[in-house]
Amino acid sequence: MSVATDKLKTTRKRRMTTAQKLIAEVTTSCLCTNEDGTLMEDNCYGECYEWQKEVVFYVLGEWQKDNDIDDNDHILIDGSGMGWQRKAGFKWTTMDKLHGALALDSGDFRIEWYLENNILTARRWSHDEPTGTGLFHFSHYKPCEKCGEPVVAIVHQEELGMCVECSNKYFDHEGE
Ligand SMILES: [Zn+2]
Ligand SMILES: [Zn+2]
Repeated sequence: MSVATDKLKTTRKRRMTTAQKLIAEVTTSCLCTNEDGTLMEDNCYGECYEWQKEVVFYVLGEWQKDNDIDDNDHILIDGSGMGWQRKAGFKWTTMDKLHGALALDSGDFRIEWYLENNILTARRWSHDEPTGTGLFHFSHYKPCEKCGEPVVAIVHQEELGMCVECSNKYFDHEGE
């Protein structure tokens, strides 16, 4: 758990101006503590996972707000240093599924999400990734309003909601 609550409060007022870095951590290991501060370990009822998830949702939500991302917009995840072969690769998800997109189906893991200057990155640690993966990068895409293909959000905005191809077609016809 790396996000101090006072940090969260000050960040709420922030709008793309500060270089403050938000970190959210989620792990399959129990983080619950006994009253004396020691880890509860065997007696976890899942509370720690619930509050870890809340922090992750908060950080992803800030990124979503600041970048004007809809729940069903496509997100392209670029990864490197994944698995024991340290492979690179990419994967598509949507904004509403992003929080679980880096989770591993089998085995324990830990994920750290970072949000800084409106840019979201993450890193994962697991049995096959003991020193951590490379940084995951996330790109926001919006569907083309003509053909539905995912378009990089900035291009989508420049082309008035269309992909470059549909935009060219549209403006060619307009000139006829
Ligand atoms: Zn726990
Ligand atoms: Zn299109």
